[in-house]
Amino acid sequence: MSKPFSIGVDLGGTNLRVAVVSREGAIVNKITVLSTGNVIESLTGAIERLFSDKINGIGLAVAGLTDGRKILTAPNLPILKEIDFVGLLNERFSTPVYLGNDASVAALGESVAGAGKDLNTFVMLTLGTGIGGGVVYNRKLLSIAGELGHVIVEPGGRLCGCGGKGCLEAYASARAMISVAMEAIELKRETMMRKNAGFSITPADIYKYAAEGDPLAIEIFKTAGFYLGIGIANYINIFGPEAIILTGGLTGADIYVEKAIKTAATSAFKELFAKAKIIPSTLGGDAGIIGAAELTYG
Ligand SMILES: [Zn+2]
Repeated sequence: MSKPFSIGVDLGGTNLRVAVVSREGAIVNKITVLSTGNVIESLTGAIERLFSDKINGIGLAVAGLTDGRKILTAPNLPILKEIDFVGLLNERFSTPVYLGNDASVAALGESVAGAGKDLNTFVMLTLGTGIGGGVVYNRKLLSIAGELGHVIVEPGGRLCGCGGKGCLEAYASARAMISVAMEAIELKRETMMRKNAGFSITPADIYKYAAEGDPLAIEIFKTAGFYLGIGIANYINIFGPEAIILTGGLTGADIYVEKAIKTAATSAFKELFAKAKIIPSTLGGDAGIIGAAELTYG
């Protein structure tokens, strides 16, 4: 019989978040520590503080491709690849340990306690520095490779961090928008973004200039939104979902999201687009922890 609580871990690039989560997907207690320094020590220390005999198991959400036991690739956190989290934690806490890709596990979290709670089939996209995603199909998280950010939206296009060309992530992510802005600044194009010359520029800066009417900044969000819409149209045509749930830092950028919805509406199969709502997540940053905890209930 399963126990009433699980430990969910979100192993991010800057923060390590560990929480006790109830069977229903409610966070009961949460600890956030920096994931710099000795990750393993911080992780086991935080779990130790929360562990009890009511814990069903430990689930981890990691930024990388996993096989459920090991991290196969983690381009943003290469150090994690070397670590056998499952073996290590299993031995230390004598409880089952599961591992999942963060974006995929976040979709599971939304399915348990968020925007996907009443949906059978949906695609969730995490729109941030990179683009990730997960698919819940007939209420089950699809354990597919699920590199949704690396579908090709422009054959032979911009070089992506994965080594491919023309990926969605190379056009519609925060990182992509920043590189286009930097190129514009370097080329000394007429834009308010040149105020950032010599400094870094963030999507929030670009958004601010767009809101002030800078045509090039608006263009950056619209172009990124256009490609996001192409990606969304593809997911709609493949899965016929009831919803596309959007989460991550870029979700609040209305120019971007509106352009994506418009593009998807004209690119996807009409009947399939009509039944797919495009909605924001309700759990935000907690979806990963809740989904990771859910992994322990199989
Ligand atoms: Zn790629």
